[in-house]
Amino acid sequence: MPHEPDSETNHGDPMVTRRRFLHTGSLAAVAVAGLTGGAAGAPPPYETGQPPASSPSPPGTGPAPGPQVPAPLTLQPITAPTEREQEYAPAALPPDRRVGFAVVGLGRLSLEEILPAFGESTRCRATALVSGDRQKALRVAQQYGIKESSVYDYQTYDRLADNPDVEVIYIVLPNGMHAEYTIRGAKAGKHILCEKPMANTSREAAEMIQACRAANRKLMIAYRIQYEPFNTSVKKLVRASLESGKGELGKIKLLTMANGQSQGGDLKQWRLDKTLAGGGALPDIGIYCLNTARFLTGEEPIEISGAQVYSTPGDPRFREVEETVNWLMRFPSGVMANCSTSYGMHETRHYQVHASDAWAQMNPAFAYTGLRLQIGRKSPFDPRAEGIEERRLNQKNQFALEMDHMAMCVQENKTPYTPGEEGLQDHRLMEAIYESGRTGKTIKLPRVDKKDIFRGDPPKEAH
Ligand code: NAD
Repeated sequence: MPHEPDSETNHGDPMVTRRRFLHTGSLAAVAVAGLTGGAAGAPPPYETGQPPASSPSPPGTGPAPGPQVPAPLTLQPITAPTEREQEYAPAALPPDRRVGFAVVGLGRLSLEEILPAFGESTRCRATALVSGDRQKALRVAQQYGIKESSVYDYQTYDRLADNPDVEVIYIVLPNGMHAEYTIRGAKAGKHILCEKPMANTSREAAEMIQACRAANRKLMIAYRIQYEPFNTSVKKLVRASLESGKGELGKIKLLTMANGQSQGGDLKQWRLDKTLAGGGALPDIGIYCLNTARFLTGEEPIEISGAQVYSTPGDPRFREVEETVNWLMRFPSGVMANCSTSYGMHETRHYQVHASDAWAQMNPAFAYTGLRLQIGRKSPFDPRAEGIEERRLNQKNQFALEMDHMAMCVQENKTPYTPGEEGLQDHRLMEAIYESGRTGKTIKLPRVDKKDIFRGDPPKEAH
């Protein structure tokens, strides 16, 4: 039976051009200086090259659309209009027209989620594996019909360059290895899908973007929540309210978000090793609060404050990485986000959007399955009652959705919705969170008025 994750350990016209950026004035300049604190020598924030939308066209893909997933079959409805509308019967590309993926690192996420998700994908097929354990890799290859000649180790990894069955490399290694394998993968001529967090630092993230740009390859960060129907439906509610000033929820005021789990006591696990993990709860699971707040609003925080970074004294798990982080973000619309993450609390993966006329709650929000969306407001039937509506959508495989988006970008020469620039921005912000925690100061950030500034072409198949 598949293991229900506790999120991460499972167990759980961006496009600010240089000219436009300079227009943001001296306040922004101060903010930028503050943000570079954790990444000395990294390219200046918001200026790490061209915007995602202007990613160069990889040779061979050109402007011509790639293979199209056939239109879904519609079946005659058998229920009355009072019933939920039926979903379309899924349609998919035949195997020989799919994009080939090499999966790098055969740990929990690859074995429990990613490889099985190819079965629910419409555009992807697993065509190669990379692992340090050849016996394990051969066993897995047999299960998924991958050729023995397409099983590599970390030394032979670069030979993927000669494998025409591989177009995309999906990097599912400890965080501290993402930069090296992304850069080597791009040099081997492959597009890269990289797990979150993108890297250990903003400097590494910027290097990964540059390497993919130099090799003319696409780079996407695997932010599965941004491809998932429940969270996307909350995004639509939030955006409608922000755009009209009211919308279904009224005026949006506050997001409260938490992602936590109790981390096991195996002191050899890479998540407790700063070199391999980059940090503790924040980059591993707190990144969901950070990234989802940005995704729901489409805005970039202008301020990070009140950060508290705490580890239980004497707990050997937290000698190198932190246990708990709380922080506050303020967005240009005035929306605030109050976020918490911890390696010391039992399965906590929820958020609530607090607005003038209603609230929307996702609990769980960040799990792989079992997501629940509730909206609370005055009952339309009884003026003395609070009405709570549960919006039941069909659960989708989040890994299949994100991989299909990457494949669509390769086949149709689009920029991924969550490109490297999206991952880089999270790293800058995490560095600002740590800085706020260290100094006790409010960290000012450049004001960006355009929505979705670091995102590429929106996914079409998920919505
Ligand atoms: P894991 O420990 O289960 O697997 C890591 C794999 O890397 C193992 O196969 C291990 O053998 C291999 N590896 C190679 N070199 C290693 C080294 N020096 N030290 C340790 N392992 C080494 O980890 P995981 O949970 O599969 O996480 C892998 C990546 O996926 C991480 O970046 C993590 O943040 C991310 N992740 C994302 C999600 C998600 O929901 N998107 C969930 C879990 C993990």
